[in-house]
Amino acid sequence: MPARIDPGPVYALVREAMGLDGAGSGPTGGHGPARSLYIHIPFCFHKCHYCDFYSIVDSRDRQKAFTARLVRELRALAPVSGGLPLETIFVGGGTPTLLEPGLWAELLAALHDAFDLSVIRSGVGEFTVECNPETATPELMGVLAGGGVNRVSIGAQSFDPAMLKVLERWHDPENVGRAVELAGEAGIDRRSVDLIYAIPGQTLQGWGRDLERAISLGVTHLSAYNLTYEPNTAMTMRLKQGEFVPTPEELEVEMFGLTRETLTRAGLDRYEVSNYAVPGHECAHNLAYWRQKQWIAAGPSASGHLAGHRYKIVARLGDYLQERDDGFAPLVDHEAPDARRALAEIVMTGLRLREGLDAQAVLARAEAVEPGLGERIEREAERWKRVGYLLEDGASGGGRRWSLTEAGVLFADGIASEFIARIG
Ligand code: SF4
Repeated sequence: MPARIDPGPVYALVREAMGLDGAGSGPTGGHGPARSLYIHIPFCFHKCHYCDFYSIVDSRDRQKAFTARLVRELRALAPVSGGLPLETIFVGGGTPTLLEPGLWAELLAALHDAFDLSVIRSGVGEFTVECNPETATPELMGVLAGGGVNRVSIGAQSFDPAMLKVLERWHDPENVGRAVELAGEAGIDRRSVDLIYAIPGQTLQGWGRDLERAISLGVTHLSAYNLTYEPNTAMTMRLKQGEFVPTPEELEVEMFGLTRETLTRAGLDRYEVSNYAVPGHECAHNLAYWRQKQWIAAGPSASGHLAGHRYKIVARLGDYLQERDDGFAPLVDHEAPDARRALAEIVMTGLRLREGLDAQAVLARAEAVEPGLGERIEREAERWKRVGYLLEDGASGGGRRWSLTEAGVLFADGIASEFIARIG
């Protein structure tokens, strides 16, 4: 069991670094208030075989206690954020929409009470809730919309019942369209669908049909993830026992290509390796992650990034529910600010974005970490440019930017790892 870390001193360091205690900008310097908040709701209908997120099967008996504890945690966290209006909130899980509408109403009221949501309320900011298609009801959508939620991310995964069975997902694919409609009727105008490809037994044609079906729903954002076999999941155990054959790599590459072709034709551009949107409908919250901005985290197993500190809240619900005088939840992981790690993170996530990396800023940071490191990174970039996987764009006068080419996107993680190996 991971050791518990007292959250009080960690949040005190964050406040100091943000200059919230009148102590200037503190040792890490230059950190403004956090503008994003992630909330984790851990309940699910059942545990899907491929999933490694923290979730527990909901018997509904702990929802009330959980919501009360979460509300207290949010109240405690509000002063750590710095007090400026939040620009993005993302509620993920688990299955957040399993929470009963009455408890959602309590949670939303507490959020409005504790944080400044004026930017979200004005429509400029973004408030996303992950939604399971089976749980969408007019009542719930009404409560969410009334509380400022303006974006839903609907977990479709596939429209083919046979593929859903392989994933051990038990929703009726017909309910995805219904959930999109109900969200629209409630006034939630940003609607996204998640799909998974490279499911064992899936064909290229089958994947194409899933994409077309999602497009036909009129969504303005789509996430398309390839199935990954995470350690310690039931699906990975079944793979090891030879119960099924994984999708061949060549087919997976074809599916990746078909995704871009089909979605681009439908007006959804790729802005991150696995994410597509009608221009202007990109997920602002996830962009904050990929741009290495700051965010507060609440709820079991949620991870936060504040003033260069990275931390994770305890996952086990029983531990999370325990009360503390300061209202915070215990942490199980904390990494203090580290300039080398921060640089590696910027490169890792920045390369996944179509906008790529600000080369000048990366090189300046690298030199500050260690003299000569900038030169090594520059040489690494040259290497990838020569093989046609990296593009340098500075012609528009906006400064040098490095982004992956179409061929390079296929190897995004491998290329990022090579850069990170140089960073050390
Ligand atoms: S519904 Fe989502 S979070 Fe819950 S077990 Fe399935 S994949 Fe994991």
